[in-house]
Amino acid sequence: MRPSEDSYLHKGMRKTLIEEIGRKGISNLRVLEAIQAVPRHFFLDSAFTKRAYEDRAVPIGEGQTISQPYTVAYQSELLDPRPYEKVLEIGTGSAYQACILASMGAQVFTIERQKSLYDSNRKFDFLKTFPGIKFFYGDGFKGLPTYAPFDKVIVTAAAPHVPQDLIDQLRTGGVLVIPVDEGALQRMMRLTKLEDGSFTEERFDLFSFVPMLQGKNME
Ligand code: SAH
Repeated sequence: MRPSEDSYLHKGMRKTLIEEIGRKGISNLRVLEAIQAVPRHFFLDSAFTKRAYEDRAVPIGEGQTISQPYTVAYQSELLDPRPYEKVLEIGTGSAYQACILASMGAQVFTIERQKSLYDSNRKFDFLKTFPGIKFFYGDGFKGLPTYAPFDKVIVTAAAPHVPQDLIDQLRTGGVLVIPVDEGALQRMMRLTKLEDGSFTEERFDLFSFVPMLQGKNME
């Protein structure tokens, strides 16, 4: 069962969490406010309520995880979505990252390849408080050509390479934040698309994500 009550105790735990994330180096206030605003324990079974506010990843079933809050904050800070920007997310998972981006004002389009995770989000009532998030079942390597161009794209699974389709679906000046495989870990990269279709690359820290897999999974 998912909890649906957000008490002063939960809000207090989130305050402690954002202080911890702040100490680890996240300074974007809009990101920290979004983490304060979105009740992370709603995304997990009630057995995990205390763990929801520890700075670590938690399993959500189907071998997938809800990313560590620090990682969500780190990617959100690099993406820095502005109100009304169109953001494409690859790897909906628990939908926590999508809610953080929506809480920052972005119009979020999010794709999940695992049918069971996509279906469970359709039954997750809290998500109705973010009617601007559009959920898709599909293969994130292909993006969402029908809805392109996007201002920003965020990949929340370990990418073996930078998918060309995702670059193609960015507007000029748009940015892609993506963890790219580098041995056992992934290098967080930020690509900015230039007018001629090429891009500049910035390299950030190493992280550990679940793999980005080809194709859709029907289960
Ligand atoms: N953003 C998520 C993180 C989930 S973990 C959150 O906030 O909880 C990464 C997710 O990416 C998993 O759910 C996995 O099934 C999904 N995924 C992996 N490869 C994918 C692909 N090619 N297209 C779409 N989703 C993918």
